[in-house]
Amino acid sequence: MSKILVGVLLLLLPMVMSADRLVRIPMETDNDFCQIQEMGYDVTAGSREENWVDVMISERFVNETLHQYPGARLLPREWSELLPQTDSNEMGFYYGPNENALFWAELAESNDMVDTPTSYGTSYEGRDLNYIRISNAPAGAPSILFTALTHGREPGGNSVIIDWAQWLTTEYGNDTMATFILDNAQIYIIPIVNPDAYEYNNPNGGNQRKNMNYDSPVASTGIDLNRNYSYQWGYDNQGSSPDPYSETYRGSAALSEPETLAETQWIDSIQPLGGFHYHTYGGYLLYPYGYNNSPTPHQATFSSWGNQMAAQNNYEVGRCGEILYDVNGDAVDWSYGATTHSPMLFFTPEVDDDGFWGSQNDTTAIVTNNLECRFMNKLLCMNLLSTVGIEEESSTGLEGTTLNLVLGSNPVSAVLSYTVTGSVGSSMSVLDVTGRVVAAPSDGNWVVPEALQNGVYFLRADNGNQSVSQRFTVLR
Ligand SMILES: [Zn+2]
Repeated sequence: MSKILVGVLLLLLPMVMSADRLVRIPMETDNDFCQIQEMGYDVTAGSREENWVDVMISERFVNETLHQYPGARLLPREWSELLPQTDSNEMGFYYGPNENALFWAELAESNDMVDTPTSYGTSYEGRDLNYIRISNAPAGAPSILFTALTHGREPGGNSVIIDWAQWLTTEYGNDTMATFILDNAQIYIIPIVNPDAYEYNNPNGGNQRKNMNYDSPVASTGIDLNRNYSYQWGYDNQGSSPDPYSETYRGSAALSEPETLAETQWIDSIQPLGGFHYHTYGGYLLYPYGYNNSPTPHQATFSSWGNQMAAQNNYEVGRCGEILYDVNGDAVDWSYGATTHSPMLFFTPEVDDDGFWGSQNDTTAIVTNNLECRFMNKLLCMNLLSTVGIEEESSTGLEGTTLNLVLGSNPVSAVLSYTVTGSVGSSMSVLDVTGRVVAAPSDGNWVVPEALQNGVYFLRADNGNQSVSQRFTVLR
């Protein structure tokens, strides 16, 4: 074979390997679900409740699979593949690796609250692993962390985080919540946990989920970073795989990969209260434990916050094992369970994207996903800050105010007690963090209804001329 021909074949190789398609298969029973997983399929999303599962398969097996499962359907090509872009965009409406670098550098340049991207380590192929800090809070303020692209083919989470940083910095000083969050917390962001795979997927399409460690322990196709964290690593072979060729290969040892080792050491150094490890896709909000589907001691908080955060987007909320399947060695279990720090309240949102790359040319879908997740980001920050006793905020009324509102206790567990002075004819209302009126207390010893889930609210007194409000937290 001539050298030129070998060269051509090598150039073609990544394109041949990336010719994968997503197929949606209807599931009748839980058993079907388990069977699919045990057959070694790359299960990318699914729902026991809605009885479907998506699998990623090589294009040449598509017809066979469609034949095998009546009712199965082939999903659009752009869901599983980054199509060649006709304009100068790296990855359509997603932010590619270079576009990310530019975005974060410019944000830091133009805004005093944003630190220049800083390296916390080096990837397998030698790229910088970067974090960004955004804050106007005093030193020592609590940290909250947002990460994305642990899996290299999931740009939807990166898009959400970029929108979040833009919103925080643009709305600071205008929006009370953006201001409150940046005045009281240090927001940390890792926009790309797995930069090697993201780079590999750019620009002509690829589907690399794992990292780019092709050496260890045998020539393989990388390690699934989200099975490589040290808490309950390798607990069983269902929640992660010992097979180097599997998409959920956990690696030869816990934290064997530079990406997970550097990230966990750095997270331990900033000790966040919690945060989101963003993934795509399917529309779920997952919390620990993933490894054996058992509740953590914080189950009530996870469940309550989760349901509240998913109130707008209807994401399915629960432990991974309830919605899909058990997962061991993942980032939320490590964040909560590792003994190197106290429990951090992390969730994994699986952004409701169209497959992995489905919104590449659909800006409307991306904007919708970003908005839905922005709501969750705000609420998570407010809830996390309420756990460390950040002072309640009060707003004075309009000019010449005579209204004064004092809360009996905060946080509130069962009865909201308050007094209003100068309140001739004032009406009381409770607003959620989005400003919707969710209740109308009848008197100063108001029994908080069960329907009001744990979270942050505002009590407002309004007499037609003036209004005054106090922030409070429901924590049962
Ligand atoms: Zn993922």
